[in-house]
Amino acid sequence: MPIPVAEPKVCDTVSIEVECTDCGHTRWLRPAQLWTFGVRGDTPLTALAERLSCSHCRRDGLPGKSIAVQAAFATEQAAAEANRWRALRTQEAPGAGSRARVA
Ligand SMILES: [Zn+2]
Repeated sequence: MPIPVAEPKVCDTVSIEVECTDCGHTRWLRPAQLWTFGVRGDTPLTALAERLSCSHCRRDGLPGKSIAVQAAFATEQAAAEANRWRALRTQEAPGAGSRARVA
């Protein structure tokens, strides 16, 4: 029986790296800076990217929605859990041809 692994959430992190894959703009945000985007402590990291957008691209009239998120976890344990969760998720991804969204 696989051990259930909790999905990593914003409250497990100390800071979040938000990278725009369109223009390459990167910034680190503390969780408290994310509240203004409607993000909460129990928001899964996988749901983060769709809530954020790139201010640089937006200023140029682009959607700025090609966001990649990386987290710095609060504890080694939280980081290990997140790695296990990602590994399980990759295994469980449906067969070849379909792509799993990974934050
Ligand atoms: Zn951008």
